[in-house]
Amino acid sequence: MHAVYLRRRAVALGTALGLLLVLVALVRGESRSPVGVGADTVLPAAQKAKLPWRQRYASGSAGPLDARGLPAAPAQRAAVARYHRLGLPIYCGGGRGPYAALTFDDGPAEYSERVMELLRRAGAQATFFVVGRVVSGREDLVRRQVEAGGVADHTWTHANLPSLSNRELRAELGNTKRLLERVTREPITLMRPPFGARDARTDRMVRRMGMVPVMWDVDTRDSAGAGSDEIAANAEAGLRPGAIVLMHDTYDRTLAALPRILEAAKRKGIKLVSVPQLLALDPPSEAQVRAGGEGCSEREAFHRQEDATAMRLGGRG
Ligand SMILES: [Zn+2]
Repeated sequence: MHAVYLRRRAVALGTALGLLLVLVALVRGESRSPVGVGADTVLPAAQKAKLPWRQRYASGSAGPLDARGLPAAPAQRAAVARYHRLGLPIYCGGGRGPYAALTFDDGPAEYSERVMELLRRAGAQATFFVVGRVVSGREDLVRRQVEAGGVADHTWTHANLPSLSNRELRAELGNTKRLLERVTREPITLMRPPFGARDARTDRMVRRMGMVPVMWDVDTRDSAGAGSDEIAANAEAGLRPGAIVLMHDTYDRTLAALPRILEAAKRKGIKLVSVPQLLALDPPSEAQVRAGGEGCSEREAFHRQEDATAMRLGGRG
């Protein structure tokens, strides 16, 4: 009796402590800026350079990292929520940490299973942008895609969003979001516009539906017919800090390229994470997001701007 009581009390205490830590991490992440730039940016550059990545980023908006070096689910949700408030598409991470995100569109499909197996063996995570109408009969596969990193909305029929009426837009996005939430029992907060086709109206609708548009800054060109050598070379060239890489789990040539891409990431010291994990570990600044795709090709310039700002802020302690 007594032992059970003690154990229950220990569990309750542990849970309360855990919640408190998460809350503290959230509040610290929230209070910094609309788009939390990591705590590292307030350190002088010389001091910053001495800190190992893990230490820098564990103290940023990602909060405490788990045994796999990944942020906890609440920190990932908080990171996505910060960008949701901005209502703009994400093209890449901040480019300050050794992280990149592989994304696989248009499934669940024939090659999803083997893609996930390769990712698992490499200790890599990825985000799967799912087409609603192909989910039926593959619900189990979708649930495993959640384990492999996460799933997101890629519309019901792979529609060209700007050509749709508001009603059609709501149906394409909403039906997919609802189906995925029913299948995965997780909130769906990211989407990718098919063909990358979007405008201010579709962005507003996506935001109203509680999601963030996710674009990419590296195109492997697998959907444009590139062979596996070219896909691997495109991905490898693009694998730098903060990269979001566009791929598809619908092609065998993409599957064939994947082992080389995973090997290249390992060689470069780049950890492959999901998009919410990337946003928590290596948040792009608000100015960078507002610059759209340019914010990725010019990431170094943005770092210099932010460092200058940080030094002024640093004076206030
Ligand atoms: Zn697509």
